[in-house]
Amino acid sequence: MSAEVFRNYINGEWVDGDTFENRNPANTDEVVGLFGKATTADVAKAAESAQAAFAGWANMAAPARGALLYKVADILDKKFDQLGAEMTREEGKTLPEAKGEVRRAINIFRYFGGEGARMPGMVVPSERDRVHMFAIRKPIGVVGQINPWNFPIAIPAWKLAPALIAGNTVLLKPASASPLSSWRIVEACHEAGIPKGVVNFIAGSGGAIGGAIVNAPQVKAISFTGSCDIGNWIHAEASKRRLRIQLEMGGKNPTIVLADADFNAAVENTCNAAFFSTGQKCTATSRVIVEDAIYDKFVEALVARTKKLKVGNGMEPGIDIGPAIDQGQLDVNLRYIEIGRKECGEPLCGGKRLTGGAYDKGFFIEPTIFAGVTESMTLAQEEIFGPVLAIMRAKDFADALRIANNIPFGLSASIQTSNVSRVFDFVYGMEAGLLTVNLPSAGVEYQLPFGGTKDSSFGPKEQGPAAMEFYSDWKTIYLKY
Ligand code: NAP
Repeated sequence: MSAEVFRNYINGEWVDGDTFENRNPANTDEVVGLFGKATTADVAKAAESAQAAFAGWANMAAPARGALLYKVADILDKKFDQLGAEMTREEGKTLPEAKGEVRRAINIFRYFGGEGARMPGMVVPSERDRVHMFAIRKPIGVVGQINPWNFPIAIPAWKLAPALIAGNTVLLKPASASPLSSWRIVEACHEAGIPKGVVNFIAGSGGAIGGAIVNAPQVKAISFTGSCDIGNWIHAEASKRRLRIQLEMGGKNPTIVLADADFNAAVENTCNAAFFSTGQKCTATSRVIVEDAIYDKFVEALVARTKKLKVGNGMEPGIDIGPAIDQGQLDVNLRYIEIGRKECGEPLCGGKRLTGGAYDKGFFIEPTIFAGVTESMTLAQEEIFGPVLAIMRAKDFADALRIANNIPFGLSASIQTSNVSRVFDFVYGMEAGLLTVNLPSAGVEYQLPFGGTKDSSFGPKEQGPAAMEFYSDWKTIYLKY
């Protein structure tokens, strides 16, 4: 059977052109689809069409834009099961995780659809007689959105929905490793009747078309999620034109486990945050910092729990962990495991690629734990983005917090404790944009701001009401009556 073709979408039309193949990371015999391989000329056309569509879209009443976002949500909802299965096939995460992410994307479209009828401005009293002063939000224009592969529907949704409700038009670039889920969003936008040119989908290698997106003269803002290397390049490039930018990048997220924590919950939360989704969440835990008094007991329990995890094809029931996204990420994981071996000896569990039978067709790797990791080790400092966890020992809470903060990143962090004072010390002292208490470090909702600090992030936050700060400008009016 020949593979289905998913073409790029420019100015309201599905465009022909060269394609690239996308394969299932759990079974590389299976082609998920052929995707349009955009050229720089396609990017230029998309930017022109987005510019041409801008005035009409921006001038549509915001609640009418909201009604279209509700329609997008309804269309996605009707395909809920299909979208979950497709995501598992393209990204590898388990079916329940994929469905959870699809549900989140649908909720995001509904949430921002509702924003169309709110869009709060400001009205304040003037010091002058008979002067009415107020401020309203206006869209910024054409926005470029560059997405990573690890949340292939939630991240494009949380970039696209607020951009659209604010009245912007969009060039959406999916990650080449997982373009299908966001293609489905664009298909839903088309079916919902969002006017031509408002949403443009341009798949293709970031190395080949990324520069054309950032440098398209019509583009006024770039929202990027991905690696620090590409994010830093976008920062330098976009700053030349003083573009508005929003960068969400890497992390090295800690979970602090104190002696007074609910022990079993702490083990479960750490295991979940470190290994589910194959450790490929930007908010995943990659360092667990354990108070000395329970260190040995915690290490033993965490290793025992981790050994029970089932690795395999995420479509199968009972599987906890799918494959790495591709050969490149698998190689990165294995390289860091070798570094770990040199730095602190054999891992307490895992450490190998899984082979034999169906494993040979995918990029499967054992969840891996290194203990006795210290602050200066590579394992404690560099993002791996795979199921490789470093366990570190801390004398007490203050030492744990110091270790947790001793990295250049600041995306997410978690604490496991029953001491409310330690919780607040953590809330005020931890240098990260997203904190959890007695929960896994990963697992966010859409109603509050999302983003990190330090080298993890740059620019205004995504999601929740904060998203509107990036996607709109204030216009202030003084009116004498
Ligand atoms: P990546 O390699 O930086 O790719 C991200 C996106 O940038 C992809 O669409 C990629 O296209 C594109 N790209 C590549 N080269 C480009 C260029 N020269 N100009 C413009 N765009 C370019 O990151 P990834 O491997 O997809 O994702 C993993 C990283 O994302 C990790 O570091 C993770 O921590 C981070 N992440 C962060 C968050 C957060 O919210 N902070 C969330 C998720 C992931 P191609 O796919 O075609 O190469």
